[in-house]
Amino acid sequence: MGIQLFSPKFEVEECLEEIRECLEAGWTGLGFKTVQFEEQWKKYTGLPYAYFLNSATIGLNLAVEILKEEYNWEDGDEIITTPITFVSTNHAIPRAGLKAVFADIDDTMCLDPGSVEERITDKTRAVIFVGIGGNTGHYTEVAKICKKHNIKLILDAAHMAGTRLDGTIPGKEADVVVYSFQAVKNLPTADSGMICFKNGRFDEIARKKGWLGINKDTYTRTTNSGNYKWKYDVEYIGEKAHGNSVIASIAIVQLKYLDRDNAYRARLASWYRERLEQYAPEIKLVHVPDACSSSNHLFQVLVDNRDEVLQALNAADIFPGVHYVDNTVYKMYAYAKGTCPHAEYVSEHILSLPMHMRLTFDDVQYICDELVKIVHDQSK
Ligand SMILES: *Cc1c(COP(=O)(O)O)cnc(C)c1O
Repeated sequence: MGIQLFSPKFEVEECLEEIRECLEAGWTGLGFKTVQFEEQWKKYTGLPYAYFLNSATIGLNLAVEILKEEYNWEDGDEIITTPITFVSTNHAIPRAGLKAVFADIDDTMCLDPGSVEERITDKTRAVIFVGIGGNTGHYTEVAKICKKHNIKLILDAAHMAGTRLDGTIPGKEADVVVYSFQAVKNLPTADSGMICFKNGRFDEIARKKGWLGINKDTYTRTTNSGNYKWKYDVEYIGEKAHGNSVIASIAIVQLKYLDRDNAYRARLASWYRERLEQYAPEIKLVHVPDACSSSNHLFQVLVDNRDEVLQALNAADIFPGVHYVDNTVYKMYAYAKGTCPHAEYVSEHILSLPMHMRLTFDDVQYICDELVKIVHDQSK
C-alpha cells in the first residue's frame, strides 16, 4: 500500500460506544451529541459561539453570506483572499455575489500582510485568512490591518484544529472562524465542520439558515407543552447545513485526543526538519513563526522539478500531495492570473510529505532518505 499522505486514525471502540448511545436513544439527528460537541468545542477553543455543521465548506458559505447581509455589503464588493487554498475558501465569495481579490502569500504559505494591505480598496469588506497546514503565518499582522482599515476578518481554520498562537487558540479577534472535521483533517470525523461567530446574533442567524431558514424559537418560547412542535416560522431561504449526532459522536471522542495526536504530529515534523533543513536550498522548508505552535496538519517542502520528484517518490512507494495549486490558474479565477507571483512559484514547487498518526520514526527516515536521493540525483 505504500506510505500515504494521510491516514486517519480513530479511537474505534470509544467512537462506537458514543454512537451506540445515539442509536439506543433513537436520537441520531440535530441536538443531543451536536449540542454536547458544540459546548466542548467552545470550552476547548475559548471562542464564544460554535455551531456544528455538516462541512466547513457550508460554514464558509454561511460566514460570507451572513456578513454580507448583516453589514449591507453590495454585490461586487471585494474580499481579499489567498490563491493557495482549497477552493472551498474562495468559492464562498462569488457564491455570495462578491469579488475574490487575490493577495500574495509569504514564506509561511499564508497571506503576506504587505500584499493584503496593497490590495485594499474602498470596496474591500473582508479578508479571508487561511492557516495553511496549521501554520498561523502572519495572522496577527493581518488581523491588525483589518482592524486599522475597518474590514472584517474570516479565519479559515480548516487545518488549524489545535493550533496555538502565543499559547492560546487563535481566532478571538476574527469575526468568524470556520473549522473542518473532514475525514483527513486533524480532528477527523467523516464530514463535518464548525462555524464560530464572534457575534451571538450572527450565530443565531446561522442556526436558522443552517436548517432551511426555520425559526422554531417564537413558538417553543410561547408554549410550554409539546403541542406546537410542528409550528414554526421560516425567515430565510436556508440550507441543510447542520451536523448530526452520529458524526458529533466521533468528534466528541476525537477531540479528547486532539492535543495528544497533534503532539505526535509535532514530533513527526521535528524529525522531518532535523533531517531536511541541511539540504536547503534544494529542499526548502516552510517558515513557521516562533509564536506559532502548529497543528502540523501538513508538512510541506519546496523542491525544483516537483512533478518529477513526486513521481520518483511514488516509485519508492511514497505518496505525497500538493497543497495547493494556485487557484488563479483555474478557469473560475483566471481573471487574477499573474497577480500573485510568489503563489505561482509555490504552486509549482510545493510538496506535502506524508503526515499522519500511523507514521513511525523509521518511516520519516525512509521518506527523507528517498527525497534527498531523488533531489540529489536530479541536480546532477
Ligand atoms: C478541507 C478544507 C476546507 C473544506 O472543508 P470541508 O469540511 O471538507 O468542507 C476548507 N478550507 C480548507 C483550507 C480546507 O483544507
